[in-house]
Amino acid sequence: MLKTFKFRLYPTPAQEKCLFNTLAVCRHFYNMCLEDRKWSYELEGRSISKYDQVKQARLYRKTFPQAKPVYSQTLQSVAIDVSKAFDAFFRRVKAGEAPGYPRFKGRIHFNSFNFPQFGSGAKLDGRRLKLFGIGRVRVRWHRPMEGDIKTVRIVHKAGQWYACFACDIEAKPELPKTGRIIGIDVGISALVTTSEGEKVENPKHYRLAQAKLRRVQRSLSRKKRGSKSRRKALKRVQRQQMHTANQRGDTLHKLSTALIQTCDGVALEDLAIRNMVRNPHLSKSILDSGWGMFKQFLTYKAGNAGREIRFVNPAYTSKCCSDCGTAFQEFSLSTRWVTCDCGLSLDRDHNAAINILRKAGWDTPVVANGDTGLRRTRSPRLMAWGVSLSNEFKIEIGLTIVSILMRKIFLPERCLLKQKHTCKGHYD
Ligand SMILES: [Zn+2]
Repeated sequence: MLKTFKFRLYPTPAQEKCLFNTLAVCRHFYNMCLEDRKWSYELEGRSISKYDQVKQARLYRKTFPQAKPVYSQTLQSVAIDVSKAFDAFFRRVKAGEAPGYPRFKGRIHFNSFNFPQFGSGAKLDGRRLKLFGIGRVRVRWHRPMEGDIKTVRIVHKAGQWYACFACDIEAKPELPKTGRIIGIDVGISALVTTSEGEKVENPKHYRLAQAKLRRVQRSLSRKKRGSKSRRKALKRVQRQQMHTANQRGDTLHKLSTALIQTCDGVALEDLAIRNMVRNPHLSKSILDSGWGMFKQFLTYKAGNAGREIRFVNPAYTSKCCSDCGTAFQEFSLSTRWVTCDCGLSLDRDHNAAINILRKAGWDTPVVANGDTGLRRTRSPRLMAWGVSLSNEFKIEIGLTIVSILMRKIFLPERCLLKQKHTCKGHYD
């Protein structure tokens, strides 16, 4: 099983220059491979394979003096990345989706390079990371790594450098059974409501940080294009966005871990987030909640721990009585409390969570104290951990929205490679 460990790097100014050079060389080679594929196909109907381009990496290193200090395998993995982009494109075309053609990468959108074989080109040297052509880079080892390091990818993000080590670790033994199975309803006012009535508050990190973000974005828009101060302002915007993204990730990691450790099974709605985001009134809040990320964390953590996650069709989970199954009359988004003729009177989200658990089809949900059946789980009480979660958890982000804004900001090319590559033959 592969697990990635990410550490912050602290390169010296000289090392940072080399890192930027490597990024520029890799990006240039990436765009060249892309151009090569595009034109060979469009002009000659010939498709170029991954292996052809991996071979070209050597030629590229010989041709451009800037590419000398870039490790050969790093360049080869760029060619592999291009091929991955095309594979994903063709896969989606086949599946009947409408994918975008792989793009040429500008400086903002190319931010990492890879050492595909740890030990050659990149290795540990004492407490430092020794990189080919760059030197011994200082690392903040904030946690222990597990397993054998297979590859390392160097990432530049918001003006900071990170090393992402992909390690091959042994699968851990499955967690002991707890006998608890719950349904959860994800929402905006409460991030999560369980079928036992617990609520976890939505920290709304992006909403809270909006004023700050607005300020740095406004300052950025006032800067002169191509100026040094603009580059600094851009970094401040990126920092702010990254901070919010980190906060959101932190909250969702803690929440998903808590659920996986305390429950044998979790039932969840299979929400079509992409469609829901089209609603202009809700999109910001939906993206701020990070439902997709939550689903992803929960699924992989369940896989590692031997827990089961079931996704149910979201239709009518809120609109029906969890007791007798009849649909409520006069039900709208603003209805926070639901009542039914059969005597049910319950918080809306709690009712939905019970419906979700029912739909998942676990026959008799077992509750920790040996009591069986759903009725037991009815009282909207806040269990000890639920309360502590709500107080502790403050979530966030809206990176997706912001990145759309960011795309409009064009930074003038600080091009280290002035030479335009000379095309091979097929332009004539
Ligand atoms: Zn009813």
